[in-house]
Amino acid sequence: MMWKIQLFKLNFDHRERDAVLETVDSGWLTMGERILGFEAAFGDYLGHGARCTAVSNGTAALHMALLALDVGQGDEVIIPALTFVADANAVRMVGARPVLADCASRSDWNVSAESIARKITPRTKAVIVVHYAGFPCDMPAIAALCRERGLKLVEDVAHAPGASIAGQMCGTFGDVGCFSFFSNKNLSIGEGGMVVACDGNLSQRLRYLRSHGMTTLTLDRHKGRAATYDVAEPGLNYRMDEIRAAIGLVQLDKLPAGNLRRKELTERYRRNLAGSPLQMPFDNLSADVVSAYHILPVLLPQACDRMGVIEMLKTAGVQSSIHYLPFSGFTAYREYFTAQDAPLAEEICSRELTMPLYPTMSDREVDLVTGALLGAVA
Ligand SMILES: *Cc1c(COP(=O)(O)O)cnc(C)c1O
Repeated sequence: MMWKIQLFKLNFDHRERDAVLETVDSGWLTMGERILGFEAAFGDYLGHGARCTAVSNGTAALHMALLALDVGQGDEVIIPALTFVADANAVRMVGARPVLADCASRSDWNVSAESIARKITPRTKAVIVVHYAGFPCDMPAIAALCRERGLKLVEDVAHAPGASIAGQMCGTFGDVGCFSFFSNKNLSIGEGGMVVACDGNLSQRLRYLRSHGMTTLTLDRHKGRAATYDVAEPGLNYRMDEIRAAIGLVQLDKLPAGNLRRKELTERYRRNLAGSPLQMPFDNLSADVVSAYHILPVLLPQACDRMGVIEMLKTAGVQSSIHYLPFSGFTAYREYFTAQDAPLAEEICSRELTMPLYPTMSDREVDLVTGALLGAVA
């Protein structure tokens, strides 16, 4: 299928290519200077004393976060009902039970302190929030709620690298922040992630969990800084390699400009769709909130045939997608969740459609997409 306008395009050029070739020529393939450089640069970007550990993907970061916070059997973890299945899966993988919090409103699709508070029970151990589409959750209120109720707080920042509230970056509000660098994210590596903690002890545990619990790295031994190692606690191998870190460093450099272009494109979508039966969420951001504009979700009219719209867009050469399908429809989650757990998210899941958005998209391409979309719902 050759799309005229695809959902996402990589923002790659000779710089990523050169970085890969230089790494291959360097003779050192994993956990070397490029990993250390990428972690340091990402930490500088986030600020707030963020300590960063590069990992193999975003799901590994979520798994490690729950392990490091001692979430396990008998615990409940509150997650958004409108999110990717990785959040629910990670909770189940540590033996805990996911519980769904609903969207705040029809215009704010994130969870809120109120929608989380409604789901707290004596067994609740932790909360995972997702900054849906790159728009920050109300982190001051959610962090205060978690402190008050003694709950651990994990931010799934897969959609939101570079998003902030009053100058503080998403990923630094909770105990642990989990980033993904999957191909279609704002910072694309292919596979990759970053797990972030501002607390030194927690950050050390995350580093142990990443690499077999070992207290020294192959690089330390290579440099003659260590001859042996201890194993501090059982760990996994969720490491990133040097080739990925090299791509990550170039992509991190491009992230601020990429996010700004995404903002311009989103504003053009908003202007083009204003006054139509299509709604765009997050239309009322407060002045101190910066979004990362990861995806472009629209809410189709109530009685609209979504599959029909997808087909008509396809005929026009425009790719679209759905973020997300409801958990209650998945075989693995049928016994856990029903549509009544989060009625608003369930409705949004049934009416949502995601349109193309990527930094190299042109204004004319946005106009083409909105034209096709308006035609399809007319
Ligand atoms: C992409 C994504 C993940 C998973 O990240 P991977 O790197 O693909 O494992 C988790 N949560 C959300 C919200 C995502 O969009």
